[in-house]
Amino acid sequence: MIGVFGGTFDPIHFGHLRTALEVYQALGLSEVRLIPCRQPPHRDMPQASAAQRLAMLNSAVRGQPGLVVDERELCRDGPSYTVLTLRELREAFPDSPLCMIIGTDTFAGLDTWWQWREILALSHIVIVERRGAVAATGELAEILTERRAATAAELAAHTAGRIITQRVTPLEISATGIRDMIGRGLSPRYLLPNSALAIIEDQAIYKTTT
Ligand code: ATP
Repeated sequence: MIGVFGGTFDPIHFGHLRTALEVYQALGLSEVRLIPCRQPPHRDMPQASAAQRLAMLNSAVRGQPGLVVDERELCRDGPSYTVLTLRELREAFPDSPLCMIIGTDTFAGLDTWWQWREILALSHIVIVERRGAVAATGELAEILTERRAATAAELAAHTAGRIITQRVTPLEISATGIRDMIGRGLSPRYLLPNSALAIIEDQAIYKTTT
């Protein structure tokens, strides 16, 4: 089973990294692919360049078995629609269950994503708790009830279509918080890897908030 963890990673921080590592271990995944988006469909463009975000990600996962940086969205033109990424991964790994990892906050807005109904035909969803319990409403809440799985074995038995909730160490860290701190001249040390912080400092990233 392959974990798929997309985000802007502007910058990568320990909230992302602990989530990736804990889901990798808890579900017995073969790997978690961290996929930085080129152009987020639902928000402003990232402040750091694609090359800078990629360098921070690579530095953060270096030496950690199971965490892999996947550049496919950075290489693709246009908005980074998750469905397109999952289609590509499904083609590349036809027989592997895919497990898309998202925070509760992100899951609650899933029904606004482009062609979101196709997501569960391509992948499982692993919801990790962030800022409280899953707050899905309407059709999303119904799907959550219908598709809910309790164990990793249930996911492993199918290539897609199930939803599992996975507890991870709660870390109230956000990239927005880190960017704001740097913009105000405060140090974000201990919220993200030193290797990523070194890149931010060397290249004077996030000095001005936009
Ligand atoms: P921003 O503050 O810029 O919105 P972010 O910190 O939320 O950024 P993203 O790159 O947007 O990070 O998040 C990618 C994915 O990681 C999302 O599914 C999000 O829910 C999840 N995530 C982000 N931070 C955490 C955290 N501290 N704990 C668990 N999951 C997280």
